[in-house]
Amino acid sequence: YDIIIVGGGHAGCESALAGAKMGKKCLLVTMNMQTIAQMSCNPAMGGIAKGQIIREIDAMGGGSGIITDKTMIQYKMLNKSKGPAMWSPRAQSDRMRFAEEWRLMLEGKENIDFWQDMVTGLAIKNNQVVGVKTMMGLNISSKTVILTNGTFLNGKIHIGEKNFMGGRSGERSSVGLSGQLQKIGFTLGRMKTGTPPRIDGRSVDYSKMEEDNGDLIPKNFSYLNEYTLKEQKPCFICHTNERVHEMLSKSFEKSPMFQGRITAKGPRYCPSIEDKITRFKEKERHQIFIEPEGWNTCEIYVNGFSTSLPEKTQYEALRLIPGLEKVKMFRPGYAIEYDYFPPTQLTHSLETRIVKNLYFAGQINGTTGYEEAACQGLIAGVNASLSIDKKDPLIFKRNEAYIGVLIDDLITKGTEEPYRMFTSRAEYRTLLRQDNADIRLTEKSFKIGLAKEERYTRVQEKQDQVESFVKFFNETSFDLDEVNKILESVSYEPVPQKGKIDKIYARPNIKQKDIRRITSVEKFIESNKLDQEVLDQTEIQIKYKGYIEKEKANADKLQRLEDIKIPDNFDYNPLASLSHEAKEKLNKIRPSTLSQASRISGIKPSD
Ligand code: FAD
Repeated sequence: YDIIIVGGGHAGCESALAGAKMGKKCLLVTMNMQTIAQMSCNPAMGGIAKGQIIREIDAMGGGSGIITDKTMIQYKMLNKSKGPAMWSPRAQSDRMRFAEEWRLMLEGKENIDFWQDMVTGLAIKNNQVVGVKTMMGLNISSKTVILTNGTFLNGKIHIGEKNFMGGRSGERSSVGLSGQLQKIGFTLGRMKTGTPPRIDGRSVDYSKMEEDNGDLIPKNFSYLNEYTLKEQKPCFICHTNERVHEMLSKSFEKSPMFQGRITAKGPRYCPSIEDKITRFKEKERHQIFIEPEGWNTCEIYVNGFSTSLPEKTQYEALRLIPGLEKVKMFRPGYAIEYDYFPPTQLTHSLETRIVKNLYFAGQINGTTGYEEAACQGLIAGVNASLSIDKKDPLIFKRNEAYIGVLIDDLITKGTEEPYRMFTSRAEYRTLLRQDNADIRLTEKSFKIGLAKEERYTRVQEKQDQVESFVKFFNETSFDLDEVNKILESVSYEPVPQKGKIDKIYARPNIKQKDIRRITSVEKFIESNKLDQEVLDQTEIQIKYKGYIEKEKANADKLQRLEDIKIPDNFDYNPLASLSHEAKEKLNKIRPSTLSQASRISGIKPSD
């Protein structure tokens, strides 16, 4: 094979798809063919900053956006009250259909083979990976290997005082690989995460809960806009109360977290219910989202109630929540500990520094979340393919993509707790919006042979239309009477003299529907047959012009440091002005540019 992908999770699926689309012969080895693209935790894609990542994956020709569109049961654009840099699409997904559609998509690619087995070791010659060894005793050779083992490496599940080996509820953990990697020099760490119980929807009294609906006009994650969500399923909101907290607290002495049976770090921003009760003692109640798992199942995901307390406690506490008095549980919540490899051991291409042609992607790198895993999988698949073709790797800068921010953070700073993406991690978030990922990334992806020509042509057409519409606003004068009527209707003072329409559109109270009341604007839209996406993109470019230009200027300034490359074999030791700590860090991370060096924690401007 050209590429062996170990693991059929979100990272592995994107790796296989990217490799296959780039013409590489791929083998996907996964422990259970039935759980390809399984959503281990909540049945939802996107959300703040994560939605932007899916749009980026889609802009490049990855699968996560299309699969989400095909299988969502509810769509929401989050943060609509804030500026467009903060808008983030989120979907409630049909868990079973999501996995099914991913499998069908991969099966539709001729150059992907599948094999159900556990990879227990790597074949390595002269510091280069040359294949994998499996539990069933197979030796399979390949030019490159991508490890995407998720939470499975020596995974240990905890429920109350019980604990047992497992990679996910009902699945085995993966053994062998971690030990071999450690022996050949990789540093290994332990992390933990948790998930809430799943309940029987037939036992829920929804009349005692608040209904939470999706957007009236649902949009898509994929720029191809191939699927329209015609019907949506509601979620519901309920709350814990003091009786629930009391019930849970009674079992704290059985908690694996509080009793020190789990020492690994978990995601701070996704705390368990027991964590929330302890950390926010003053809060009388916590919000719980009752989320359907799909169109055709009555199973419900209890979002906000992640726990590893004994299953009996979980059950009894749930029954104290209004609406859940008669609840039946399908599966208890649990916590899981697993091995990960600190990502400072990788280069920006996601290839390991220790073993050539070996790539790591997803939760194995200390991240958490489907979107974070999927985008790494895509980049690893792309870069394994490019390396086989002896081409330079694809590396996104921090001002080009959230994917660039994520990988640069991991490689440069490492992570000691599960890393998830936030908009605040991106310095240039006004540039990295969910609406323009296609304009930012599709051309690059097309040039390396991943995005198809149809996708590229579409983006070019959109870009041309937006440019000409923006030019129209910048260059066309308005009719004074017509504009003053519009201004008055939104409580603005009339303007004394004529000017260009962009100045009117830039005003905060002037919305798209208002500007379309100008006859020449509506005529331009009609004669050029502009669609909603073009109208929205133009609006953002005009209204946020100042912010966008300022951020671009800042990014250009930083680019100068980005352009100063540091040779990989640069010797820091003779530099007398560097502190011992700085030398140690620079030798460990081996930054490839002066800019990356400046982002390493502990490296000072004087260094
Ligand atoms: P996974 O989706 O875990 O997939 C790994 C794949 O590799 C599986 O198919 C497995 O069978 C296969 N595999 C493993 N080892 C081998 C081997 N040796 N040989 C062959 N195949 C192998 N994310 C959030 O964002 N928020 C949360 O609250 C959250 N909670 C979670 C709670 C739990 C209990 C779990 C398990 C995960 C949670 N996650 C959460 C994380 C989310 O599920 C992962 O980030 C995401 O699934 C990682 O994708 P991945 O592709 O890296 O790995």
